[in-house]
Amino acid sequence: MSGTIWAVVVAGGTGSRLGLPYNKVFAGLGGCAVLTRTLRALSESRCYDGILLVLNPRDEKAYRELEAREGLKDLVQLTAWGGETRQQSVKNGLDALPDGVELVSVHDAARPFVEKEVIRATIDSAKQFGSGVAATMVKDTIKRVSGERVVETPDRARLRAVQTPQTFKASLLKQAYQWAERNGVSATDDASLVEKMAGDVRLCVTEAGERNIKLTTREDMQMARRMLDQKSEISVGMGYDVHRLVEGRKLILCGVEVPWEKGLLGHSDADVATHALMDAILGAMGEGDIGRWFPDTDPAYEGISSIKLLEKVMAALNERNGRLLHADLTIVCQRPKLMPHIERMRETLAGAMGVQKTGVNIKATTTEGLGFEGEGLGISSQAVATVERFE
Ligand code: MG
Repeated sequence: MSGTIWAVVVAGGTGSRLGLPYNKVFAGLGGCAVLTRTLRALSESRCYDGILLVLNPRDEKAYRELEAREGLKDLVQLTAWGGETRQQSVKNGLDALPDGVELVSVHDAARPFVEKEVIRATIDSAKQFGSGVAATMVKDTIKRVSGERVVETPDRARLRAVQTPQTFKASLLKQAYQWAERNGVSATDDASLVEKMAGDVRLCVTEAGERNIKLTTREDMQMARRMLDQKSEISVGMGYDVHRLVEGRKLILCGVEVPWEKGLLGHSDADVATHALMDAILGAMGEGDIGRWFPDTDPAYEGISSIKLLEKVMAALNERNGRLLHADLTIVCQRPKLMPHIERMRETLAGAMGVQKTGVNIKATTTEGLGFEGEGLGISSQAVATVERFE
């Protein structure tokens, strides 16, 4: 009697390189989450008897919500909790597999474009040779370096770039993981462990492997959207805010503390510029204003850094398949001089929003002494945000 074939999907990553404050596999891509798309691709290949999903315990809440919203119960037969490293996560997944599994494919949750052709090739190879690892030819010439000095140029024809799925006889892979644990061996992928232990790993180069990209950077997400031929719309939102200047408060503008004898009064840190920016982004999203999102009657927001709220707004934008193209802010302030702080403000906002510094512009102006800003009674700020939303 032959055993079953399972996929172990590893979803342990973060969204840091995508500028997301949450795991990138929960990011929206063409009407569903990246994770859902990956699970569907595996399930629809009809190659597997079951799918085991390894989750980061941090993502439990996000996962439960996604499970209910996108019907993952039909796609995922078992879940396991990941560990500190990818290697530990895969090991936890292998340990949680049911008895009688003959072949197991380890697959990155961030590769939603995996096709049946690739999966099939790795399974066929694993049946015959014990292993089958998705791979592509290398298009660029690769240099081996020491620092920035080239040490060697390997023959490109003899190089392959490996991906997932990586399919193995379950007994072989489990053995490799146990061996690695015993001997303190670590590696960034499963093939390397099997290779180090057994010395024999087979690669499967397919044409469909070219499309099996791993979504890591913003550019990858853009490429993914192009692959899905997604249409997008551009919208613009504006924001305006005023806070009173009082003694005994810190002056926080665009997340940066500006040394000054007074600070802005408000329920949060009263960062007037970040407030205007959030309103502009919410405006472009058609999602009301920050008063609705973060009511000042809610004690949770008392004294909170507005940068934290901005991260929440960006997460909401990402969830709605949107991205910020550009934001432009004006801070109207008679004193202190803001010029020396503008670059740090840009860096802070760009970091919080996960965009390049060139995607944020900040201007400061006085009112030549006129009005409440001119008299030093308060600071106002205006912002415009341009957002691209994918269907
Ligand atoms: Mg405000």
